[in-house]
Amino acid sequence: MKAIICGAGISGLAAAAFLAGDGWDVVVVEQAAGPRPQGYMVDFFGPGWQAATALGIIPRIRELGYSVERLDYVDGRGRARASLPFARFAQVVRGELVSMLRPDLELAIREAVPPGVHLRYGRTVLAVTQSRASVTATLDDGASLEADLLVGADGIHSVIRELVFGPEPEFLHYLGFHVGAYSFRDPEVASLVGDRFAVTDTRNEAMFFYRLRDGTITAMAVHRTDDPARPDDPQDMLRSRYGRLEWICPAALRHCPRDLYYDQVAQIRMPRWHTGCTVLVGDAAAAVSLLAGQGASLGMAAAYVLADELKKQPDLGRALDSFETRIRPLVLEHQKAGVSAAHWFVPATRHAVLMRRAVIRLARIPGLTRLISSAVVGKSGAALTSSQNPSPE
Ligand SMILES: Cc1cc2nc3c(=O)[nH]c(=O)nc-3n(C[C@H](O)[C@H](O)[C@H](O)COP(=O)(O)OP(=O)(O)OC[C@H]3O[C@@H](n4cnc5c(N)ncnc54)[C@H](O)[C@@H]3O)c2cc1C
Repeated sequence: MKAIICGAGISGLAAAAFLAGDGWDVVVVEQAAGPRPQGYMVDFFGPGWQAATALGIIPRIRELGYSVERLDYVDGRGRARASLPFARFAQVVRGELVSMLRPDLELAIREAVPPGVHLRYGRTVLAVTQSRASVTATLDDGASLEADLLVGADGIHSVIRELVFGPEPEFLHYLGFHVGAYSFRDPEVASLVGDRFAVTDTRNEAMFFYRLRDGTITAMAVHRTDDPARPDDPQDMLRSRYGRLEWICPAALRHCPRDLYYDQVAQIRMPRWHTGCTVLVGDAAAAVSLLAGQGASLGMAAAYVLADELKKQPDLGRALDSFETRIRPLVLEHQKAGVSAAHWFVPATRHAVLMRRAVIRLARIPGLTRLISSAVVGKSGAALTSSQNPSPE
């Protein structure tokens, strides 16, 4: 059996690793010239952990990742106004939580992709035609690839979704935020960040900082806006929009490069993720957004379940139906959580900032830690078996 996978991100590489491991002949088409270096920190835990375990990459994930002790919401001088005990959240999920750069997670998965998989960087899909039993993808170099299955794993702005299922506006739900992310080096800033996630305790726009073990600072900027359109010059926009923030923010904004990661914050909601011989996985099918915070994990989980169902079920249509039945409840749960998180993630009012501080302080009260942790980290025990495992609560 032959599969074409469009997108060599977390979901696409995981799908390649699982399908090739089951004997599929796999080609991956990726538009970037090589592995994408642009990164931001992701907290990796939840359903994808089981998939990563199946791939045998947990030791590598732990090696590349970080165990964050706490997340401080800081004032204009960098002093913590409220602290989330991240380490205690990790306990709630039995220590199965690692914070890491997205490119490092991709690296760990890429290393698990069997050597027979053909990774074609610098290429995209221009057209898709399907017959009853096969699918043909035409690439931008004129090549025509035929396969039994086409997997669209090309992210929130998926071209496979556009070509096979319909235009993006039908499925994209804007959540009212934009996000920018980049890395820089500045020893003075690094010493002020220290060994914690530091987040400005501000409303309408907030900056997030973390110091990597080589001293590099990863910065993320999230702000509210009613306009989903990307600004012409994101670097310039960030510098003016975040100009009022204090502490290390002016220095961090001076380091902001032109080629930063920048996008709207949105979810993809589709009634169906497969048609004929084409299926979508990860953000392409069901982006939950950074507000829900488990997109990477769900993308890996989807790849794992897809391969599992294809292994169990010789009929492609039935296998894809079963795949959707198993993954959809997890996605819906996290999309709901993402929408609820919008209120407190970057609050809009002073009252909401104060409420967030109060709730975070409750996390220090024994017993409530578990409740608040579950609200923050979700029902991460919801697993990938056909009959769902109970949550750790
Ligand atoms: C700032 C931020 C913070 C986040 N934090 C977390 C977190 O803490 N925990 C978590 O689990 N998730 C988090 N997420 C979400 C997570 O990063 C995504 O859900 C995850 O990366 C989705 O993986 P994917 O492989 O489905 O899509 P992507 O990562 O978008 O990968 C898609 C791939 O397809 C390629 N591609 C795109 N278009 C084409 C095309 N036309 N042709 C060929 N290739 C194409 C892209 O270059 C890319 O390599 C965060 C996201 C953001 C933006």
